[in-house]
Amino acid sequence: MTKDLWPKCKGLAHQAAVRQHIAQESKLHGGKSLYPDPINLPFNYSSISDDFTFRTTEDVHPDKDSVWAIIQGNSAVVVEGATGPKLACGQLPEWLTYHQTPIYIGTWRGKSLHAISVSSSLQLQPPFVAEPFNTSGEQLDIQTLTLAGLARQILHWERQSSHCSCCGAETTRISGSWGKRCNSCKNDHFPHIHPCAIILVKRDNQLLLTRKAEWPPGRYSLVAGFLDFGESLEECAIREVREETGIEICNVRYVGSQNWPFPSQLMAGFVADYAAGDITVETKELEDARWFPIDALPALPPYRSIARWIIDNFK
Ligand SMILES: [Zn+2]
Repeated sequence: MTKDLWPKCKGLAHQAAVRQHIAQESKLHGGKSLYPDPINLPFNYSSISDDFTFRTTEDVHPDKDSVWAIIQGNSAVVVEGATGPKLACGQLPEWLTYHQTPIYIGTWRGKSLHAISVSSSLQLQPPFVAEPFNTSGEQLDIQTLTLAGLARQILHWERQSSHCSCCGAETTRISGSWGKRCNSCKNDHFPHIHPCAIILVKRDNQLLLTRKAEWPPGRYSLVAGFLDFGESLEECAIREVREETGIEICNVRYVGSQNWPFPSQLMAGFVADYAAGDITVETKELEDARWFPIDALPALPPYRSIARWIIDNFK
């Protein structure tokens, strides 16, 4: 990476520079990118950076042109349109906004963007529909998905930070940031984003894939887990593979990351080689773990996930 590439580049010029850089790096590394093209992975800021600006002032009230990121549990509430589901615009009906205080997030294509969450029990009426984040159908385009994910992450933080974790008193937003200051003990709190390692393990022409019982039938994915105290991300990757599958790995290399707003993770992707051991499934977390030949892979996670990106690019 050219050190001064990032600060100089903005918007389309930035994207073009990133693509050019990836293309150059790919030639140097046998056609494999060193990291995900962030433009192609939803939830990463680059997916929306051309048209989106984070809030720079305090609360802006919604108006007739405002755009709405509405979250209902694990779904984005969107409006069905001729070109597919989109975020709602303009005045929302009262049955939807009832008792809600919208959170101003920033501007999207020059219009103010606001987030609200609605009760999981609320019956939506047309044209509003709930589009699950974790569906394999991938109905939402990358930008809609990323804006809704951002809203979900911010709403989660707003709920978590309404009261001080030190003394329990109410908090107030720190001007110019997403942080909160306790009204009583004056401690500052900033958004909690939790690092996870996600790892593709390779052995000859086979991939180590795992399956959780709650996933759609037949779907397998990569080993993944949260960073522990006193651990590097590479150490986390090694430990998670060992704990979940009994397999020892080597040559752990970082390939890229993805923001993952469910509710607030940073997925750090790795590829590693098999070193030793036989599979022993950690049955508290997993239903199954096994080696799959590259030409006979099972159902995989949606393309929106870094898990799928790693599998497709590094298998
Ligand atoms: Zn406090």
